[in-house]
Amino acid sequence: MGNFSWRVASGEIIWSEQLYRIFEFEPGTAVTLDRIAIRVPPEDVPMMVDMVGRAQRGETDFEYQHRIMFADGRIKHLHLIAHRATDRDEVEYIGAVLDITQRRVSEETLERVRSELAQVTRIMSLGALTASIAHEVNQPLSGIVTNAGTCLRMLSADPPNIEIAKETARRTIRDGNRAADIIAQLRALFSRKTVRYQPVDLNEAAREVLALVAGDLQRNHVVLHAEFVDRLPLVGGDRIQLQQVIMNLLRNASDAMRDVDDRPRQLSIKTEPGGDDHVKLTVRDVGVGLGTEDPDTVFQAFYTTKSDGMGIGLSVSRSIIESHGGRLWAEGHDGPGASFSFTIPSSAKSNPGIPDTDATRASATTGSS
Ligand code: ADP
Repeated sequence: MGNFSWRVASGEIIWSEQLYRIFEFEPGTAVTLDRIAIRVPPEDVPMMVDMVGRAQRGETDFEYQHRIMFADGRIKHLHLIAHRATDRDEVEYIGAVLDITQRRVSEETLERVRSELAQVTRIMSLGALTASIAHEVNQPLSGIVTNAGTCLRMLSADPPNIEIAKETARRTIRDGNRAADIIAQLRALFSRKTVRYQPVDLNEAAREVLALVAGDLQRNHVVLHAEFVDRLPLVGGDRIQLQQVIMNLLRNASDAMRDVDDRPRQLSIKTEPGGDDHVKLTVRDVGVGLGTEDPDTVFQAFYTTKSDGMGIGLSVSRSIIESHGGRLWAEGHDGPGASFSFTIPSSAKSNPGIPDTDATRASATTGSS
């Protein structure tokens, strides 16, 4: 945060050292509106003009959020608050400028993750949709069978009723197309158009998911303990799919503690190097435990012990991790609860599950994620 004072009539502007730093101006150099304007991107110039207008009219307070841009394309988001000093003869404003770039970037990231995960949530409710899909597709199918039957009868009649036969054949084609359309729509709904393989920082990906489920965890009185090891190697993969897995493990852990009342509902999430150039992530809870002899049972499609469960989360999660060349497993342990872990190869190690797409190559060479 930096401070300023601004005498509107004389144009005299005084900045604190921090404000010079925010604007990246040489400390102590003269500050003018023209100089500031150079930093303001064209879309935000009207806001600045408006602010100057209000200052010239001597309004008591104003507050703006605008951006400044640097020659190298970097952008900072600023929040300016100014108050007119009342003890002066001339109009003078005293104000503060906050650099809110970090907050904005987090908000934008959160928003992006939220919308991408909304897509995932649609996929996750696949089980619930199955019944209505079956119904939708069944209708044209039974239409096809009925019409084809009528068509045959019309053709076998003596003399054959060609006109009606033609009409029922046309209806058969129409129903066939309808079924194909339904399938095409469903495929469009469930396939993300772009599957992006890129270097992923699992710590960061997990933090984003935690931000999303924090509200749910709180409502369920879950005490979260996160342990993210520093300098975790990047993994190569589809960030959204990996986040889908993490979210599923966290939700299951939280669900497993729904009826726990005699101990704190502790949930821990941990990342660590997994050996042999792998990265490992573990989610552990103190819930009801796996309750099956073979911990692998929970990965079977449609296995669920929840009244509102669908039993596909873990099987989808496992197939995602395996397509990344990794492994996902469950373990019971001493004491209550269960833990779920996955390992996936770090991007330094060649990954059989990940096609060498242009996107992978490009991001690997620039090192961006
Ligand atoms: P769903 O959550 O819809 O039941 P999942 O495939 O995600 O589907 O989970 C399948 C089943 O595995 C759950 O119903 C539950 O019985 C078991 N399970 C998953 N995670 C845990 C956990 N952390 N603790 C105990 N049981 C679990």
